[in-house]
Amino acid sequence: MLHYEHQLADGRIAHLRFSDVGDGDFAIADTLGQLDQNRRALCDYPWTWLHQVHGADVVHATQPGEGAASEADACVTAVEKSVVAVQTADCVPVLFVGSAGMVAAAHAGWRGAVAGVLPATVELMRNHGGGDLVAVIGPAIGPECYEFGEADLAAAEASLGSVVRSTTSQGSLGLDLVAGVSAQLADLDVETVVIERCTACDPGYNSHRARGDKGRQVAAAWIDDSSLGHPSP
Ligand SMILES: [Zn+2]
Repeated sequence: MLHYEHQLADGRIAHLRFSDVGDGDFAIADTLGQLDQNRRALCDYPWTWLHQVHGADVVHATQPGEGAASEADACVTAVEKSVVAVQTADCVPVLFVGSAGMVAAAHAGWRGAVAGVLPATVELMRNHGGGDLVAVIGPAIGPECYEFGEADLAAAEASLGSVVRSTTSQGSLGLDLVAGVSAQLADLDVETVVIERCTACDPGYNSHRARGDKGRQVAAAWIDDSSLGHPSP
């Protein structure tokens, strides 16, 4: 698990977590029947979690856990002690903090990124007075492992820019989705931190592409007033 804390303008703490396989499976299929337990072990506040569909819909939770099980790819809350979360295995998880007291979690696969899930998340946060935004890009598949066809690559490039065009370690066409997401956030004037970790290279993460893993890691954020002493992202 990667733990980060970000202090808000009023002194409260935004907590950011990126799980790994050692923290259990967060796939909503819940084949082991341990999902609730895994969530409670990570954070024992109500969770807003999503049925992710690679779109651009954003849920705004105005009470703890509101909107859980919605079909959407991002969730935002300004409510204390309320978790917002997305689950991934290769797709890009992005956690946001708004300095005025807001957190968000977004699931950006290439289709969702092209559909605009990140601009939609940023717009919702800004429309609700989120303050200065910081985004943290968590573990995701790297271009060296992400072989991509020319037609899809051209579509991604048209939306996310030429930074997405890359090469795999095997020398074939590759997609650099993290670079595309970073460029999109830069265009939105969001300060962005990238955690350079490839879910396909690192067996400590679920990878749909590299290993056909059915499990998912989770990216989760919440606000409360207790610092546990974790570093800033
Ligand atoms: Zn890799």
